[in-house]
Amino acid sequence: MKNSPMSCIRCGNCCTRFAVCVTPSDIERVSKFTGKKPFEFVGVLEEAPQRERTEPAILINNTYSVLVLRRKPDNKCKFYGGSGCTIYSARPMLCRCYPFTFGNGEGIIEVCSRACNVVWEPKDPELSNYKTNCGTYKVELRAYKELATKWNSNGGGTFSEFLEFISRSQNKSI
Ligand code: SF4
Ligand code: SF4
Repeated sequence: MKNSPMSCIRCGNCCTRFAVCVTPSDIERVSKFTGKKPFEFVGVLEEAPQRERTEPAILINNTYSVLVLRRKPDNKCKFYGGSGCTIYSARPMLCRCYPFTFGNGEGIIEVCSRACNVVWEPKDPELSNYKTNCGTYKVELRAYKELATKWNSNGGGTFSEFLEFISRSQNKSI
């Protein structure tokens, strides 16, 4: 690990190696920003039953799955351009918080990551931004978990049906 007081060096490792889980709130923001329909940039990844994730698993075609951003044939995030994120101001909360996540209290905790080579020591205003983003992520995940529980308890359905379900739910809450 490289010791650095600096924040993200925009190396792109985290955008090119891992699946990025998204919430319905992320999908809505990216859709508005890009003008794309959710199915154009969101997919599902089968969830291993023993895997612990922060994101809820949803029943798609009778299989527990997680919502993720689609990836290019070379496995990079669909929105990763030559010089970085092409949807930076609308990027998912997971990306905004990386490599931190929220703990049980107010603070943030560093994620143990094999992708990031920076030893992070964020200070204000960066630290405050991370805390705000992690707090927002926590709230949006809680809302998503409620939706996922409702969806799963009704037996789930196809991916298209799930996208319609979250769209209807979001319209109701506006
Ligand atoms: S949405 Fe942007 S920040 Fe997130 S993984 Fe894709 S390119 Fe990286
Ligand atoms: S791996 Fe770390 S340094 Fe590289 S882009 Fe991601 S957060 Fe920034």
